[in-house]
Amino acid sequence: MAAIPVPENLTSLRRMVADTPTRPPLGDVAHLGHAQLFTPVPEETVAFFIDYMGLTVASRNGDSTYLRTWDDYEHHSLVVTRRDQPGIGRTALRCSSREALDRRVAAVQATGATGQWVRDEPSIGDLWVTQDPDGHELALYHETEYWQAPAELAPGLKNQPQAKPGQGVGVRRLDHVNYLAKDVETTTDFVIDALGARPTEQIRLDDGHIGARWQTFTQKSYDLVYTEDWTGSQGRLHHLAFATDTREDILRAADLALDTGVFIETGPHKHAIQQTFFLYVYEPGGNRIELCNPLTRLVLAPDWPLVTWTEAERAKGQAWGLQTIESFHTHGTPRVD
Ligand code: FE
Repeated sequence: MAAIPVPENLTSLRRMVADTPTRPPLGDVAHLGHAQLFTPVPEETVAFFIDYMGLTVASRNGDSTYLRTWDDYEHHSLVVTRRDQPGIGRTALRCSSREALDRRVAAVQATGATGQWVRDEPSIGDLWVTQDPDGHELALYHETEYWQAPAELAPGLKNQPQAKPGQGVGVRRLDHVNYLAKDVETTTDFVIDALGARPTEQIRLDDGHIGARWQTFTQKSYDLVYTEDWTGSQGRLHHLAFATDTREDILRAADLALDTGVFIETGPHKHAIQQTFFLYVYEPGGNRIELCNPLTRLVLAPDWPLVTWTEAERAKGQAWGLQTIESFHTHGTPRVD
């Protein structure tokens, strides 16, 4: 069936739209579960996430600390693990059922990728661990235990997993992972075709190749982002993002960073792409962390047209004119020369 055209009166949207409508997320992957960060200074990194970001510790095991945002219904939102170099470890995606998990495993295997079943995370059942085509570790799982808050963090309302800890910024959830990739188009095609994500926005450079692409598994406008790695390296991280409730929280986060010596790279400001209100800081291990407030922006349209930004549009900078900082194009983890 032919796609229904975008109405004439949506002129600004029409101007941006250069691609055909996309299909909704498949639904087999329910949402971004948690991510793992590597750091050479785990004590300092964990302290940053507790004192500044406002996460709490769920448990510890060897070189890993399992941390959680207050509104996460699962055991952990973030795993901080000691390594010589900073970077991104495992990104875990929760599937909507065991059947959905098995379907995605089969779909990934059909691309020629391999993986293995493990059971190595607290409060989580079988995980199938694989990699995206750029070498980032991905894990698919379904079985999980709902978090039971300890008495000192018991929530006031039964529909909330844990009390707000009342420390630091107090981020609500892990919002998205932004990877660096050598070949954005190939890697995101895998996320779309094998995992069933929907691309919502992208950058196409003048020579025709895709410079960045934003994918969602939900009605949030993005969960996994891939940006071209200008060094040609593979498997690196651009940033990990945590969502706050309000824009004001981002301004407060900037003040708090000033007062506590947290390095601010850029912001607060508003992105043009996805319109996210943002602040970028570095945690002590060197990984870039974003505090973001995507407002209540949702992609409800079942036939959402993939929005494509041009090189000239990107050169205008962020939404209110802030130029994109140079280190945004050069800093990734692990560092490369
Ligand atoms: Fe981001």
